Amino acid sequence: MRLAQRMGALRPSLTIGLNAKARALRAQGIRFYNLAAGEPGPPTPPAIVQEAMATLATGHVYYSVAGGTAELRQAIAAKYKRENQLDYSQDEVVCGCGAKELLLHSFMAMLNRGDEVILLAPYWVSYLEQSKICEAKAVIVPYDAQQPLPSPEQLERFATPRTRAIVLNFPNNPTGHVPSRAAYEALGAYLQRKDWWIISDEIYEYTVFNAERRHYSILNLCPQLREQTLIVNGLSKSFAMTGWRVGYALGNKDIVANIKKLQSHSTTCLPSFTEKAAIFAITQGRPLVQPMIDAIETKLQKTQQLLRDTLPELTFTPSQGAFYIFPQLPTWLARTSYPTALAFSEWLLEKHKVIVVPGESFGVDGHLRLSCTASEAHVQQALAWLAKGLQELKATA
Ligand code: PMP
Ligand code: GLU
Repeated sequence: MRLAQRMGALRPSLTIGLNAKARALRAQGIRFYNLAAGEPGPPTPPAIVQEAMATLATGHVYYSVAGGTAELRQAIAAKYKRENQLDYSQDEVVCGCGAKELLLHSFMAMLNRGDEVILLAPYWVSYLEQSKICEAKAVIVPYDAQQPLPSPEQLERFATPRTRAIVLNFPNNPTGHVPSRAAYEALGAYLQRKDWWIISDEIYEYTVFNAERRHYSILNLCPQLREQTLIVNGLSKSFAMTGWRVGYALGNKDIVANIKKLQSHSTTCLPSFTEKAAIFAITQGRPLVQPMIDAIETKLQKTQQLLRDTLPELTFTPSQGAFYIFPQLPTWLARTSYPTALAFSEWLLEKHKVIVVPGESFGVDGHLRLSCTASEAHVQQALAWLAKGLQELKATA
């Protein structure tokens, strides 16, 4: 039987694949160290779990509404007013099964075959593959560690008459970069002159650890972009609810209605018992998870210090958010039998049972994404094995 042509180029998610690998190792009782997790660490706060259990116990086991109940959308609009100083009505909010579903549906709603979408490398794994599902062309702006957010002049080199959208993701997965206000404002002024959609993936909004310690949406700095911007967010990272699959997006009524239409023909609605729990979490907001956020900051700083102390050959731009570090591998690796980040990470897993995400997943070779949310001891051991692995290979370079 023949598959659709679009499947030929589509690759499975490497991050999800590594997750599965970690589970398989655990099931086999094999010791391993995982620096690949896209999880904030602790389980969902018990008060949120209680809310879901109470909802189930009272018979919320039926279909819910496509795009989220009015109560949930209202809670999200209120959160945006309270925490983000942005005004949205509940008709400008749509919920989906994770930010991932909303991203796919927004690509489907915005892009025709052959349209171009600009991605800034390193970009999160699924943007590229989702653009392939839409038969759109991803135009990738290469990574410059010195200037992770390209200037308008640099971006203009990638703009064509077919450009329809650009994806922004700050705090960034995998670099942890948070742009300065000035850089954001310059980008905003440039985007105002373009009739492009802006998909602003702000899923790591709670974990910002730069000097200002405050998340800015591009819309806070450039409110004129409101009509062309879709903010994508979710509860996975901010409330440690990755398995619950609750995401949401805010944008103009038209794009939101079209995303909702797509959901009505795909996943139908959120799992209905998660909605009340999501309302509870969103209404409580940041204070409910502040200890977790503080712990992530401590782990991120400690992991970066440990990297500097024990693996000076891995150079990196300090991470200011999310919970990842994106170090560059030493250039001598190119002279070994494992010359790419992908080959190296596969070897490292095979030989030393350390799981890291190779930079190729984010469109940048020669780098690794290290997640710092495991326990300090676990991260320490993982880095010790990583150092040992590098030493072994260096001897062969
Ligand atoms: N965007 C980014 C940048 C991510 O790292 C992730 C992974 N959690 C997602 C979107 C998707 O998140 P979810 O589907 O769990 O809401
Ligand atoms: N977003 C997380 C990551 O980048 C989880 C995995 C995924 O959704 O692809 O690792």
